[in-house]
Amino acid sequence: MSQATAEATLPFEEALAAYDPVLGLEVHVELGTNTKMFCGCATAFGAEPNSQVCPVCLGLPGALPVVNEKGVESAIRIGLALNCEIASWCRFARKNYFYPDMPKNFQTSQYDEPIAFNGHLDVELADGSTYRVEIERAHMEEDTGKSLHVGGSTGRIHGATHSLVDYNRAGIPLIEIVTKPMTGAGERAPEIAKAYVATLRDLLKALAVSDVKMEQGSMRCDVNLSLMPKDSTTFGIRSETKNVNSLRSVERAVRYEIGRHAAILSSGGKVTQETRHWHEDTGITTAGREKSDAEDYRYFPEPDLVPVAPSTEMVEALRATLPEPPAARRKRLQSAWGYSDLEMRDVVNAGLVDLIDETVTAGATPAGARKWWSGEIARRANDAGSDVPTYAASLAVTPAHVVELESLVTGGRLNDAMARQVWDGVLAGEGTPTAVADARGLELVQDTGALQAAVDKVIAANPDVAQKVRDGKVQAAGALIGQVMKEMKGQADAAAARQLILDTLVG
Ligand code: ADP
Ligand code: MG
Ligand code: ZN
Repeated sequence: MSQATAEATLPFEEALAAYDPVLGLEVHVELGTNTKMFCGCATAFGAEPNSQVCPVCLGLPGALPVVNEKGVESAIRIGLALNCEIASWCRFARKNYFYPDMPKNFQTSQYDEPIAFNGHLDVELADGSTYRVEIERAHMEEDTGKSLHVGGSTGRIHGATHSLVDYNRAGIPLIEIVTKPMTGAGERAPEIAKAYVATLRDLLKALAVSDVKMEQGSMRCDVNLSLMPKDSTTFGIRSETKNVNSLRSVERAVRYEIGRHAAILSSGGKVTQETRHWHEDTGITTAGREKSDAEDYRYFPEPDLVPVAPSTEMVEALRATLPEPPAARRKRLQSAWGYSDLEMRDVVNAGLVDLIDETVTAGATPAGARKWWSGEIARRANDAGSDVPTYAASLAVTPAHVVELESLVTGGRLNDAMARQVWDGVLAGEGTPTAVADARGLELVQDTGALQAAVDKVIAANPDVAQKVRDGKVQAAGALIGQVMKEMKGQADAAAARQLILDTLVG
C-alpha cells in the first residue's frame, strides 16, 4: 500500500464550470520484434534477469549498434496508420542522462527528426460522436532496463536497502506516440483520453506490431494535463502523470488531475510543472520530480548509426500492408451482423468485437454471439473488475462453447431457459455445454405422449380459457402454455407445447 496522501481536489463539475482542460498523451509501445532495436539480443518477456544482454545493449566501450530493419518498418507502418507524414531522411539522437537502468548513460532516441509526424486518429465516443486527436509525432527509441528496489515497503527507491537492475529490457524497440495538445474536450476529457488509448491499442493490435499488453508494460501511457480559465486560450502549466497502465486508470487519472489543478488554481495557487506518480489503489497522483520544458539532455545526432532514409517505394510497399482501419472494420461487421447502431455501440464499448467475430466465424449466429457474450458473463466480468475477453480467457470459455450452446438450442435439446442454466454451468467451470447439460440432466422432453397428457390436463383444468381459444382467441393460449411448461417442470419446448394446444383445441 502506498502511504501517499491526497491533495485538495474540486468536484469535477465545479472544475469544468470554471476551466477548460488541455490534454496531451504520450504512449510508449514496445514492438514485438524478435530482437532488440540495435543488437541481436532476444526480447522475450519474463526471462532470467540479465540473460538477454550483449556488449551493445550494455553499452560496453567499442560496441557498435546496428538498426533493426523490422523495427523501422513497424515504425513506418504505425506512422502511416496514424495518417502521419513519413520522413524521407531522419536520424537517431542521443538523449544523455545518467540513471542505473540505462547502462550506456544515454538513450538512443529521436529528437527533432522523428520518423513520422503530423498525423491524426479519429476516436469514437460512447455517444456516437467522433473526436479527432492530432498526432504530433511518432518516433523510434529504445526501452530502458528495469530497477528493482529491495527492502523498502513501497517498492520505490525511498526506504530501500539496495537495488537490483535487469537489463533484459534495455534496447527493446519502443515507439513513442505523442499527441498535440487536445483542446475543446471539456467534460469529455477523461472519456476522450481513455477512448484514444483504446483506439490506439486496437490499431496497434491490428497492425500486429506489438502485443499491447498494458498490464505487462508493453504499452504505457503518460498523461499531460493543464487547465485554462474558461475565457482564456493560453495554456496553463501541465502536470505529467507517468505510467498510467490501464484504460480505466487513464480515465481516472485525467479526472483526478482536473480536480486537483482546479483546486490549486481556484485558490489562487500556481500549478507546479512536474511529473506525477499514479496510485492505482487509491486513484490519486502524487508529486514526482519537477521538470522544466528546457531540460538539458544535450541531445545530439547519434554518430554510430546511419540515417534512416526510407524510399518512396518502401513506404508505399509498407502502406499496402496496412490492415483495414478498425473504424471501417466495425462498419463492415455491423452490416454483416445486422446489428442496430445501439447494439453495435454496446458491443464496441464492451470490447466484444473480436470475440463476436471469432464466434460468428466459428459458426454461431451474430444474434447468438452477441447474446451469450453480453449477458451473464458481462455482469460477472464487471464484478471481477475485468472485461469480457480477459475474463472469458481466464475461465477458458471460448467461442466454440457459444457455438455448441447454440446448436443445443437449434437442435431441439434445450430451450432458452435451459440454455441459460447451461451457460451458468459453463461459466462456473463445469465443462462444455454438452457436459453441463448431461450433468444437470437438462433436456427437453421429446416424448409427445407426456406433453399431450400435460396439455389435456391443463385444458381440463381451464375450461373457460380453452373455450376462448376454440372461439378463435389464439392469444389466450399463452396462459395455457405457461401452465403446460410448469406441468413439465420447464423441460418442454414452449413452441411445441403451443402447437399441441392449438392442435388439440382447434384441430
Ligand atoms: P516531454 O518531453 O515533457 O514529455 P513531449 O513533447 O514529449 O514533452 O510531450 C508533451 C505532451 O504534453 C504532448 O502530448 C503535448 O501535446 C502535451 N502538452 C504540452 N503542453 C501542454 C499543456 N500546457 N497542457 C497539456 N498538455 C500539454
Ligand atoms: Mg515525452
Ligand atoms: Zn544486446
